[in-house]
Amino acid sequence: MPRPIKPRWVEFVPSVTYFKPVGVPMAELDEVTLGVDEVEAIRLKDYVGLDQEECAMRMNLAQSTFQRILTGARTKVASALVDGKALRIEGGNYLVSPFTFECRDCNHEWGYSSASIEGMACPKCGGLNIESFRKVPVRDSASRPRGRRRAWTGKPGTGKMTGTRG
Ligand SMILES: [Zn+2]
Repeated sequence: MPRPIKPRWVEFVPSVTYFKPVGVPMAELDEVTLGVDEVEAIRLKDYVGLDQEECAMRMNLAQSTFQRILTGARTKVASALVDGKALRIEGGNYLVSPFTFECRDCNHEWGYSSASIEGMACPKCGGLNIESFRKVPVRDSASRPRGRRRAWTGKPGTGKMTGTRG
């Protein structure tokens, strides 16, 4: 039985999803398609500038898998630029990964789309003793709620762990 491909976590879903060379009729235009997960790989590595280990962790992937996705994505972008192809962003095996924050003082939990806890106070008690987690993604079709969470670094880019709980 083939192993199912696990969804790749992305923090960014592009709003612009089609790039077309000027002056080439659509009928004559070749097209490359990048998945949202491929765009995220390029974003984390080449735009944000994270190292490969952190990129892989943020997308919930093995480093070798991340490298393979990144290489494939770069090849597609290169082909669009060199051969004058249109670039479509569509599909891909991904889940948007929100972050969950928890107040260590009152255990209040809330969600937010960024991992940064800088300057953030607990909306319930105003405490600053905050931990961030990333939710473990669950496929919609399976819809089995799982409580497992993953400790996440407090701030993107630092690689610093917030410590173990309890
Ligand atoms: Zn609190």
